[in-house]
Amino acid sequence: MPRILITGAAGFLGSHLCDRFIAEGYEVVGMDNLITGDLRNLEHLQSLPQFTFVHHDVSTHIHLNGPLDYILHFASPASPIDYLKIPIQTLKVGSLGTHNCLGLALAKKARILVASTSEVYGDPMVHPQTEAYWGNVNPIGPRGVYDEAKRFQEALTMAYHTYHGLETRIIRIFNTYGPRMRLNDGRVLPAFIGQALRGEDLTVFGDGSQTRSFCYVDDLVEGIYRLLLSDYALPVNIGNPDEITILQFAEEIIKLTGTAQKIVFEPLPKDDPTQRQPDITKAREILGWEPRVSRAEGLKITYDAFRNLPEEVLYKQEHRDFKAFVK
Ligand code: UDP
Repeated sequence: MPRILITGAAGFLGSHLCDRFIAEGYEVVGMDNLITGDLRNLEHLQSLPQFTFVHHDVSTHIHLNGPLDYILHFASPASPIDYLKIPIQTLKVGSLGTHNCLGLALAKKARILVASTSEVYGDPMVHPQTEAYWGNVNPIGPRGVYDEAKRFQEALTMAYHTYHGLETRIIRIFNTYGPRMRLNDGRVLPAFIGQALRGEDLTVFGDGSQTRSFCYVDDLVEGIYRLLLSDYALPVNIGNPDEITILQFAEEIIKLTGTAQKIVFEPLPKDDPTQRQPDITKAREILGWEPRVSRAEGLKITYDAFRNLPEEVLYKQEHRDFKAFVK
């Protein structure tokens, strides 16, 4: 049974990755410091003998007994609100956390895939974004702590690849959504659905003309799985190229939820990218991958998951005690 370490396991993407690798017959070690992760996302795996949870901050040295075949480094805050609240941790997990994961991969002779992001392109001057584009990032702006940590992460990962010959993979993830996103994490989909469910107006930032391209989580997980098992070491974009303005997106959520609330406009946050759409030619060619789930299908599944959340989660999401999870 191959053994894989997944950092950020209690988060949105990390927990879906735990599910996928368990289903593929792997032994999974999930690691998380639970700053933005939530153990509810792993509750269904807790009793499985092939799953172990380790409560640890990967920005400090990682010690793990036993052999390891793969590492997926997905630990990081992932919403602009989190970057503002915990900027230093965001920088540390992308830099020091990546260094620790790479060091562990080297010691264990494991293959490592690191989660990079479309944010390495900043507010892009090239559209759609190909992997060849170097980006337009403000290093000292509010998003700089995330963007620059991820850019450093890519540089460090390539250095381990070229200097140490480590087997590395880099995925650049574009906006992804699905069940288990934190309702209060500030990102646009949980923000709009949460507002609709609570009977609040939907807050569109700026005039809503900025664009994003939203990928359903199952499609992303498939892309990650294929990239990990491929032999391609350079960065690969994974995302859904179906681009939409944020205003149109708000209108879609209003229609989907049937809310009687209206759209209100709030100031656009600093350095909010004006457009974003992945060029997925590489993923198509190298991985034979492309998204399969339409936004209409994906949003329906996500809405159904959110509307079934208990009231206390809808109004205030609390973290459960992690101690029961530590084996
Ligand atoms: N956004 C919005 N209202 C909200 C939250 C976000 O209009 O309540 C906008 C935000 O300004 C951005 C887009 O939605 O243009 C996507 O924001 P998100 O935080 O989800 O991700 P990112 O900006 O990192 O792509």
